[in-house]
Formats: sequence, structure tokens, C-alpha cells
Amino acid sequence: MEVKCKHCRKDLFNKESIQLLNSHSKIKKNPMDVGCAANETKSCSYVSVEDMPEWIKYTVNRESWTRGRLHCPYCNNRIGSFNFVNEMKCDCGKYITLPVRITNSKVDISFNVK
Ligand SMILES: [Zn+2]
Ligand SMILES: [Zn+2]
Repeated sequence: MEVKCKHCRKDLFNKESIQLLNSHSKIKKNPMDVGCAANETKSCSYVSVEDMPEWIKYTVNRESWTRGRLHCPYCNNRIGSFNFVNEMKCDCGKYITLPVRITNSKVDISFNVK
């Protein structure tokens, strides 16, 4: 899985084996996989906390694990957000989504890379 910033086209995860997850915390199977039928209009992917790349860890640490925005480390375009303060639920109300989210429309996700 490769995730690139749509603005600067740089690889956000540096080819690390980071998997984006859907709102039910399952590994996405394709770029449109949102995980939940109730969620079709939502366009976020999630990163597991154990798996966060260094630049996300850095930002989260800087905000003392509260909440904030994620910006592309290369061009500073906003690409997502995180929230360790409130639990956020999936639209179906049954699942709690992960605290770190990436906005799908801000990135290019490609699955042809192994
Ligand atoms: Zn960028
Ligand atoms: Zn759901």
C-alpha cells in the first residue's frame, strides 16, 4: 500500500509497511473500502497507533496526545487529524474509530505496490 500526498505527490509513509485501516479498524482492501455501509459518505482512513510513522508520532507527541491536525511533512497541506481526547464512533454507532485519521480526498492510495 502506498499513500501519497495529493498536493506534492510525496510518499507519506516512506514505503514503510504501514497499512491504512477502515472505520472498523480492518485493513483496507481497496481505496474505496470505508469499512461500513453506514459510512459511505465518509472519506477517511485510519492509522493504527502502534503503526504510526515517525512524523505522525512527532505531531501527536507535540500536542501531548490530545488532538490536532495532521499536515503533510513535505508541503504542509492538511491531510488529516487526530483525536485522543474523545472517542469517535463510526456512523453505524457500533464501532469506535481509531484516533488518527487521514482524509482520503487529500491523498492518493495505491494498492499495486506490495
Ligand atoms: Zn504534501
Ligand atoms: Zn460502522
